[in-house]
Amino acid sequence: MIQLYIPLNFLGVMYREIKQSLTDLDKMFTLLEKNREVDDAPGAPALQVREGHVRFENVSFAYDPSRPILHGVSFEIPPGKTVAVVGPSGAGKSTLARLLYRFYDIDSGHISIDGQELRSVTQASLRSAIGIVPQDTVLFNDTVEYNIAYGRPGATRAEVEAAAQAAHIHGFISATPKGYDTMVGERGLKLSGGEKQRVAIARTLLKNPPILIFDEATSALDSANERAIQAELRAVSQGKTALVIAHRLSTVVDAHEIVVMEAGRVVERGPHAELLARGGRYAQMWRLQQSGQEA
Ligand code: ADP
Ligand code: MG
Repeated sequence: MIQLYIPLNFLGVMYREIKQSLTDLDKMFTLLEKNREVDDAPGAPALQVREGHVRFENVSFAYDPSRPILHGVSFEIPPGKTVAVVGPSGAGKSTLARLLYRFYDIDSGHISIDGQELRSVTQASLRSAIGIVPQDTVLFNDTVEYNIAYGRPGATRAEVEAAAQAAHIHGFISATPKGYDTMVGERGLKLSGGEKQRVAIARTLLKNPPILIFDEATSALDSANERAIQAELRAVSQGKTALVIAHRLSTVVDAHEIVVMEAGRVVERGPHAELLARGGRYAQMWRLQQSGQEA
């Protein structure tokens, strides 16, 4: 989200702050609402992650029945591999991430992990197996430490700091008067989009789950920071199953497979070199981004 912000007067600032907190509250309520909709099946067992094989089979989904979003999407992430999803804004990429985390149930098709359908296992076990860095991170009105340790309750301060180091946010936190005890959110320290993303990355690194979802996880960072953190994310993804939604194609050239989405459908798939050679949608997107970077 790009916010052009011109401080015209004090009231303008107040208005923006109030509007922003309402938006955050709104998001929280949306999440809570959705969590209530997606209930555990009676007697549902816990998910058993054996190797981390993720499979989407002919998945269709609509937030609102009158407007279908995904149309028969199929792809799989073999154990320990990274699959990237790319495509224009509104294609349905974040929706895939939300469905894998089961914020919503699908209308038809199957999503499974190691052969276990998502809706047949408990939400708690599913969510403890997955780390997600969402496109827009909402932090809790609590300390920086709480927000990072939320990934793994009971983590020590040293573990929290190590995760923050890896997410390149330790320096920033240490420079604040109260350090890791600093309150963040509406009544505390306001963090920029990039800083919030790094807190969410630290949280996920600390959680260290077998399955990872990065939804444009570094899109709010400048390119130097992005390169540094991408290296960390690649390192932490080694041997884990990862769904990476990419904004800059240069970050996913070495993915096992790249899935190209458009208007809720998979329109191309394959490794980077193969897609480039094909000269289709991906090749076109790649050329556009390359020329954009030179300009
Ligand atoms: P992408 O991440 O590829 O930009 P999204 O998955 O966020 O796309 O969105 C796909 C489509 O679903 C868009 O048309 C968007 O407007 C719609 N959409 C996303 N979230 C919601 C929601 N909570 N309620 C209704 N429609 C939504
Ligand atoms: Mg998105």
